[in-house]
Amino acid sequence: MLDFAINYGTVVDTQHRQLIKKHVGILGGRITELSDTPLNAAREINADGLIVSPGFIDAHGHVDGQPYSGELSACQGITTTVGGNCGLSPMCLKTFFEEQEKHGFFINQAEMVGHSFSLRHAIGLTDEYAPADCTQIRRMAELADQALSQGACGVSFGLDYSPGASLDEVIALSKVGAKYNRVCSVHSRLFTEHDLYSLYELFTVAKLSGARMLLSHFVYQYCASSVNDALQIVEDAKSRGLDIMIDSGMYTSWSTYVGTATYDPQLLHDNNLHYGNMVVATGPYIGRTLDEELLLNLRKNHPDDSVIYCEGTPGDVYECLKRPYAMPSTDTGEYKKGEGHPQIAGSFPKYIKEMVLEQKLLSLEEAIFKATLLPASTFGFKDKGIVKPGMDADLVLFDPVRICDMARFPHEGLPDAKPKGIPYVFVQGRPAVDGAVFTGERSGRVIRL
Ligand SMILES: [Zn+2]
Repeated sequence: MLDFAINYGTVVDTQHRQLIKKHVGILGGRITELSDTPLNAAREINADGLIVSPGFIDAHGHVDGQPYSGELSACQGITTTVGGNCGLSPMCLKTFFEEQEKHGFFINQAEMVGHSFSLRHAIGLTDEYAPADCTQIRRMAELADQALSQGACGVSFGLDYSPGASLDEVIALSKVGAKYNRVCSVHSRLFTEHDLYSLYELFTVAKLSGARMLLSHFVYQYCASSVNDALQIVEDAKSRGLDIMIDSGMYTSWSTYVGTATYDPQLLHDNNLHYGNMVVATGPYIGRTLDEELLLNLRKNHPDDSVIYCEGTPGDVYECLKRPYAMPSTDTGEYKKGEGHPQIAGSFPKYIKEMVLEQKLLSLEEAIFKATLLPASTFGFKDKGIVKPGMDADLVLFDPVRICDMARFPHEGLPDAKPKGIPYVFVQGRPAVDGAVFTGERSGRVIRL
């Protein structure tokens, strides 16, 4: 007897990028049947009118075992998240993996090992403006190698957060990623407003290390007037044989900790970033627009609060995500209820709604492929991204007309409002969302490569 049957739905065949009418059977965490006739099971779900898609894979997040961001991810259809991004990962991945396995989690988790905060701090290099010396680089490379041998899915960089990191440092660690044929994800550094040199730096890294590069939350790095130039530069590099992919969220306004180098007053000045565009996303000043006094106060007394920088237009996002080498991502992280950036709850439904239904820039099949099989094959998640027998039963069932994000920026509404039109999400064969209600079931697994 099957555990679940999902009957009468429209299945997305991500391999051939087509929609097919099939009935799906689930047993013991796996998809076991794809049938032309309705299936019997302990529980049968009538998916008439719904799309049955592989669960979304979030190519760039900061869930890292934190429960509320895990819950909000599941509710937007994400069944697998890639964490440890922007140079910030759990200090000891072996321990992290073991803990997550012991307690279970709402969704599946893969992890990068992070350079700019985690590896640097692990070897005692806490000055973000200082380069690592030869010995320090060697020690970080050894730790990165260890993490990759323990199953980390790549090396992440947050160069914006460690302005002192040298090219030698980045190349040495990328070589470790290349040795394992894993992804190196990079939150690029930005030296000045609309700076594009940072891209050439990363292509140098790709060329000299042989690493496969994933440029993180691309639209956050190069939105407004530079997005088309930046994309053209990426395409030129790809045409010269470099293995470069990008991920992007559905928002142009980005968020980070106010205590980081990003909000260093000197760098704000160099990057021509204006106080009037900064909105506090967490803590006692949530929703307030910044001025110099509040910035200095927050950096001193509330460095872990987040501030959103408002810029760009929706067209910047569309330009990025319509490219065949672009994957949708959230950049989500843990916030208290009612706080944060709408990316934590709205990204994937907004992606389907705007890219497919409203702008018609992607077909539904293409959009789903980019949110599932494309990241699965980029990272090497072999059992994910396809609805067929033998694959993990990670599924999202959504209404292709009603799917809609409800999350808003903190000065406009609730950043963690859950989306509409996603009644069922399955993680490893168990319902994480059932009848549009989050179940709290901990069927998610750790993905060790
Ligand atoms: Zn980042």
